[in-house]
Amino acid sequence: KPTIVLVGRPNVGKSTLFNRLTRTRDALVADQPGLTRDRHYGIGRVGDRDYLVVDTAGFDPVAKDGIMHEMARQAEQAIAEADVLLFLVDGRAGRTPHDEQIAARLRRSGRPVHLVVNKAEGLERSLASADFHALGFGAPLPVSAAHGDGIKQLIDLVLAPFPLDDDPQSSEDSGPAVAIVGRPNVGKSTLVNTLIGEERVIAFDLPGTTRDAIAIPFERGGKNYTLIDTAGLRRRGRVFEAVEKFSVIKTLQAIQEANVAVLVLDASQDISDQDAHIAGFVLEAGRALVVAINKWDAVDDYQRDQLKQEITRKLGFLSFARFHQISALRSDGVGGLLKSVDAAYAAAMSNLSTPQLTRIMQAAIAKQAPPRHGTSRPKLRYAHQGGMNPPIIVIHGNSLENLPTSYVRYLERAFMEAFKLQGTPLRIQFRTAH
Ligand code: GDP
Repeated sequence: KPTIVLVGRPNVGKSTLFNRLTRTRDALVADQPGLTRDRHYGIGRVGDRDYLVVDTAGFDPVAKDGIMHEMARQAEQAIAEADVLLFLVDGRAGRTPHDEQIAARLRRSGRPVHLVVNKAEGLERSLASADFHALGFGAPLPVSAAHGDGIKQLIDLVLAPFPLDDDPQSSEDSGPAVAIVGRPNVGKSTLVNTLIGEERVIAFDLPGTTRDAIAIPFERGGKNYTLIDTAGLRRRGRVFEAVEKFSVIKTLQAIQEANVAVLVLDASQDISDQDAHIAGFVLEAGRALVVAINKWDAVDDYQRDQLKQEITRKLGFLSFARFHQISALRSDGVGGLLKSVDAAYAAAMSNLSTPQLTRIMQAAIAKQAPPRHGTSRPKLRYAHQGGMNPPIIVIHGNSLENLPTSYVRYLERAFMEAFKLQGTPLRIQFRTAH
């Protein structure tokens, strides 16, 4: 799944383009109560293809210290980890010295770069082209992020060199692909080493996946699993260590490659925005999720109470997932955690038959009818399964675009309960006959 990184000086329209590139997915998780969105990382989708989009903010190659320097450092890391770079310039403002600095930096990156001229609505194509040609990335692609012009062509061009991928699927014998994720120092490597124990581990490249994803098969309790190794968590000899600088992009790539994400939290610390952002991304990617509250051994009753309140307040949108209190260090609670991984995986891969789905939908309607919209009442006819991991339920009927979000959530809950889908998010899509 390719990672597209947007680079450009302030005000060229990066966040508008980011919203365009991620909009379809965004709508799916909109209005989740309590969900904190990170507006710099998102998933986009055209047809069956997923891609990760990263918006770098405040990229100033000459900033030496302070917040600007930190932002520049993060942008540098994103550039290094990009599969493809979109270099955005402003067609109305023309080429600026700042653009030239960025161009020089991008040329050194060795990554494929597409030059995108934004705000191109109503601009003479040849004029824009001549001015920006001098940046040295060939003919620029004109778009209007605000109006949506040229976006489809841009995505098609950018994605063309990347092989088609499928959503993660694992065979019977390799078991679920599991990504252990979380911010630095929460205990990810400790947990992985506890899980894998003295097992002989063999690393191999996962075919057809992002260049840095490495899969480690392991067995536990007679069951097979495949661990998705991330750059932040690399095997060194027999043990895992957090060897490299923490990378948001690598974390998000691992989530996309996995069937199940295990989000590790540190019980001795407050729940941070970074925890919530990673959790939000799991939901956006539609992956099954188990939460491990680690270092439970190191906190007293007061801290445990505080933490429970924090979790309800900041991670309320994860009500579909199971939470486990564990101590990776003492190997407490790890067996139970893996049982939930199995259950979440089974839920994510459920086969839901059309008659069953339709029956559950009708029972839900009988209990609470969809609200009227003006003179028409949305009519739900039947439901079938449209995908797995996450389970997608496609409902056919009329005037379905008028269903309020609250009613969609009500249907979601009805399906979740009827099929006992704990551990996986669920998607409902509507097909309206006209
Ligand atoms: P990572 O950056 O998420 O991989 O975190 P590490 O696994 O390197 O752990 C960070 C620190 O937390 C180390 O000092 C660990 O020994 C400690 N740690 C990890 N798990 C536990 C736990 O369950 N209890 C306690 N008390 N400390 C832990």
